[in-house]
Amino acid sequence: MTPEEKKSLLEKLFAFHTKRAPGLAIGIDMVELALEKLGPVKDRINAVCEGQSCLVDVLQNMTGCTYGNRYLRVINNLGRFAFTLYDRVDGRGIRVFIDVDKIDPVETPEIARFFSRTRSPEVKKGGQARADSAEKIMSEFSKISRRIIAWYPVRVLKFEKPDVYPAAFCQKCHESFLVTESEQKICGACTGSDLYFERI
Ligand SMILES: [Zn+2]
Repeated sequence: MTPEEKKSLLEKLFAFHTKRAPGLAIGIDMVELALEKLGPVKDRINAVCEGQSCLVDVLQNMTGCTYGNRYLRVINNLGRFAFTLYDRVDGRGIRVFIDVDKIDPVETPEIARFFSRTRSPEVKKGGQARADSAEKIMSEFSKISRRIIAWYPVRVLKFEKPDVYPAAFCQKCHESFLVTESEQKICGACTGSDLYFERI
């Protein structure tokens, strides 16, 4: 990607993400590196993101692996700023992450604070201080980029396509749902196991 292409992609990501999150700029370079190291694939590229972060939005835009098409899996509770891109045919992949030991707190102090989550209380509150911090992180990152991005080849353990479940009409709410257990007649909302709201 040329610097101009990168800049326009970043603006697109800011709009998609609805925030000028500095992780998006870092994510672009991470995904670019992963695609480069992965090389040509035999089937489709799939992705696993190791947390619910802005990286999810970078992956969706740059790789075409989306939550909706199920080529992207998110491990919500892991909370690492990392992901793996892999070939769906054999699980061969590249894991990319931030090597925090390579972050120099003198040369790039705001990046050091960002990844150790120790930015000042004013920054955490939001507003101008947060915007200024974001700009600082991106400007620091533009000078070091791949120096703090690390990767290694992996084999994804469960790379097969996820099961496709048959649909049925719930005997209680009459909505269509996916039958994940045999002989299931009532949807998870009606049994209570997947109920996430109360009617008001
Ligand atoms: Zn139901």
